[in-house]
Amino acid sequence: MTATREAISRDLIRQCVQCGLCLSSCPTFRLTGSELDSPRGRIFQMDLVRSGEVPSDDPDFRQHMDFCLGCRACESACPSGVQYGLLIEQARATIPDPRPPAGVRLLQRAVTSRRLMRLFGLATRSYQKLGLQRLARTSGLLRFLPASLRQADATLPALEGGLLAPRLQTATPARGELRYRVAMLEGCVMPEFMSETNRATVDVLAANGCDVIVPGKQGCCGALHLHGGDPETARRLACVNIAAFESSGAEYYLTNAAGCGSALKEYGHLLADDPDWAARAAAFAERVRDVQEFLVMAGPVATPGPVHARVTYQDACHLAHGQRVREQPRDLLRAIPGLELVEMANPDYCCGSAGTYNLQQYDASMALLDEKLAAIRETGAEVIAAANPGCIMQIAAGARRAGMEVKVVHPMRLLADAYARSRPAP
Ligand code: SF4
Ligand code: SF4
Repeated sequence: MTATREAISRDLIRQCVQCGLCLSSCPTFRLTGSELDSPRGRIFQMDLVRSGEVPSDDPDFRQHMDFCLGCRACESACPSGVQYGLLIEQARATIPDPRPPAGVRLLQRAVTSRRLMRLFGLATRSYQKLGLQRLARTSGLLRFLPASLRQADATLPALEGGLLAPRLQTATPARGELRYRVAMLEGCVMPEFMSETNRATVDVLAANGCDVIVPGKQGCCGALHLHGGDPETARRLACVNIAAFESSGAEYYLTNAAGCGSALKEYGHLLADDPDWAARAAAFAERVRDVQEFLVMAGPVATPGPVHARVTYQDACHLAHGQRVREQPRDLLRAIPGLELVEMANPDYCCGSAGTYNLQQYDASMALLDEKLAAIRETGAEVIAAANPGCIMQIAAGARRAGMEVKVVHPMRLLADAYARSRPAP
């Protein structure tokens, strides 16, 4: 038997009664029709590795674990309350030497340090704004790059601003009466690639009576590492964030990225065996909210002006399945006058982004994206709202490729726009 790096919990596996009710909700099962690519089949394989009947470096085991999106749609479907998200993290952590492709390794390394991420952002912005991206695309140079880097190039959004991404203020005062003091996670990718979404989020919170702190010593949430089989790095990053947010003195810790929110809410579990951090991690997780979840809980007080647009909302997997936040973003959008919210078929089906899945499992990711774009097309929507940077970039890249004239934005940008329209002109 091959030594495992971390154990798979027998108790978590035993929660599965093998009823198969999750199968039709699983995107990889829908793609392949293979039980081995279904939640039930994967849990069965995890049990074989846990018991030592199959070594954790078995190539088939690895292939079926790698092919899982980690979308957690199976959790929403499961009547037995199986915590599949925890199981797949544990299963991946047993696989020795995960060796993700070049583009993923680069990203995993960059996000561990804000300085490296800033350099990564500068390099990416220079690549786009100095015309190198256009040159690489038109000259055919891209075909000499590894597939994961080619896909990263295709997914890159048009970056706003100059060579350096604008920074958020460390403190933004509430407009009007102070109701809450909140601290916001900037994220690792968001400040570089979607700074306008972060600014919109701060603006919406301030308009709703929140003092918004952006703790200076925060870092990446660790989700990329946790889902990639590296819980040690995820724990290290979690400790950095816990200390940074504790010092903010805020009542709530907010994020606008579904994947990050899901990871932050699980810090209590991630550090449960660490005597120095377990209690702090549990207390931290209690305060975490998705920004839309928070706004509906707090009750918005700002008045939105009209935004005339036909909008469809894509449920990010880690918001709908991971955090069970489905209605709040829709409620906020419906409150905008003039905005027509239309539902696509299966809005909680994964778009194929799934962290770095689109860089690692290109064909499957594109098949799911095509399915998503077809559902969007049916709605006739001109705007797609999604509350996760990965979904926004994936759907926008797919729409560009398909020649669809649509905008893909975070709901916070629509809300900030609506608030701006209700303010008197300066
Ligand atoms: S994960 Fe849940 S739904 Fe799927 S087979 Fe197991 S018990 Fe049934
Ligand atoms: S996480 Fe998603 S892809 Fe993986 S088994 Fe569950 S439903 Fe299927």
